[in-house]
Amino acid sequence: MAYYVEPAPIKDKENPFESMMSRFHIASQILGLNDEIYNVLKNPVKQVIVSLPVTMDDGSIQVFEGYRVIHSNILGPSKGGIRYDMNVNLDEIKALAAWMTWKCAVVDIPYGGAKGGIRCNPRQMSSGEVERLTRAYTQEMIHIFGPDRDIPAPDMGTGPKEMAWLMDQYSRAQGMTVHAVVTGKPLVLGGSLGRSEATGRGVMVSALAAMEKLKINPYGAICAVQGFGNVGSYAALLLEERGCKITAISDISGAYYNPIGINTKEALVYRDKNGGNLYGFTGGELISHEDLLTLPVDVLVPAAMEDVITVHNAHQIQAKLIVEGANGPTSAKADDIINTKGTLVVPDILANAGGVTVSYFEWVQNRLGYKWTAERVNRRSDRVMKDAFDKVYQTAVYYGVSMRIAAYIVAIDKVANTYKYRGGF
Ligand code: NAD
Repeated sequence: MAYYVEPAPIKDKENPFESMMSRFHIASQILGLNDEIYNVLKNPVKQVIVSLPVTMDDGSIQVFEGYRVIHSNILGPSKGGIRYDMNVNLDEIKALAAWMTWKCAVVDIPYGGAKGGIRCNPRQMSSGEVERLTRAYTQEMIHIFGPDRDIPAPDMGTGPKEMAWLMDQYSRAQGMTVHAVVTGKPLVLGGSLGRSEATGRGVMVSALAAMEKLKINPYGAICAVQGFGNVGSYAALLLEERGCKITAISDISGAYYNPIGINTKEALVYRDKNGGNLYGFTGGELISHEDLLTLPVDVLVPAAMEDVITVHNAHQIQAKLIVEGANGPTSAKADDIINTKGTLVVPDILANAGGVTVSYFEWVQNRLGYKWTAERVNRRSDRVMKDAFDKVYQTAVYYGVSMRIAAYIVAIDKVANTYKYRGGF
């Protein structure tokens, strides 16, 4: 919208699949992964592209393109979100599917990795159009999805509403209610308590664990959070609850800076009353999207989108710690600059794994036909995140590498070992 402070387009956007592969390559070499397994893991198991004709509200028929990529299903059924966005493309979905494989392996849950998406602009579609699109996509994927095969979840542009339609369409085709085919559902449909805040909560847990390593006292630690959607808003809120001072937040409408500290609860209430964005928020001075990333802070949480920390701004970043709430916020080419500066980065495949962890708990509850309390969900997911953080940190120290490469090492080692035992080529 014209009145927003539009983010500048991403300069020299890297191919996300190549970005993922460059880290995979470094970690594989350090591990001494053999060429056969390397080749197996660099190729997705399955890539499906479907055309989805949908009747629009004006009576016309529009055809959308939908994707589902299963990168690996060696550890268990594949798991990964569905993204509705105009920039969805096969390379992006392939990269995101591979990241899901590594993410599930890092937090040690019995899933492979997948991702799906539809190229569309849900903000310009009516609820009825989005519903028909979601049902058409589910119908085309009826033999791909399944609680023991491939389990979708929300991602950018989708949420509990879309997951409910997906579950309903899948259940109709099976002739029975199948809750466990999808996670991130509304609570009444078998969703889990704690799922909404799970990713932001995991970001908070890993940020606190990293602050401890860096001897940064969370009480009064200065943080900037980019993105105020599901991940960013909960990360900011929960970090503030732990005593951190959130001096900057942002969303697509602009970035807001207050050196005394932003009241994130007020920002959340404002966002929800304001059509889901922070436009016009007066709890901070309006600054540019770019400036938020280079503010003098202890902790930077990029929680909006990919490729925001690049060779163009990495030198200017002042944060001592970066906790990646988003998937792929740091371009592969910026890794070296950040590492040379000595900034500690808790990488995406670790930092934002709280979401898939609680998705796993949702699936477990659905299969047991039982509901856990929020306290039980949070306690267990905090433990999973802390254990995964410690393992990745120790691996980084052991190999003398960044936490990002260490996370890939932990993940690839687990997946490669599983292949060794299962064999069957
Ligand atoms: P969301 O749609 O709820 O929120 C995205 C936020 O980013 C919104 O506030 C939006 O306005 C803002 N934004 C978009 N473009 C921006 C820009 N150029 N500059 C500043 N802000 C911008 O999405 P989400 O679920 O919070 O996901 C955010 C990121 O986290 C994505 O990379 C997603 O893949 C990743 N992620 C999400 C989950 C989850 O459970 N939701 C789990 C793991 C990873």
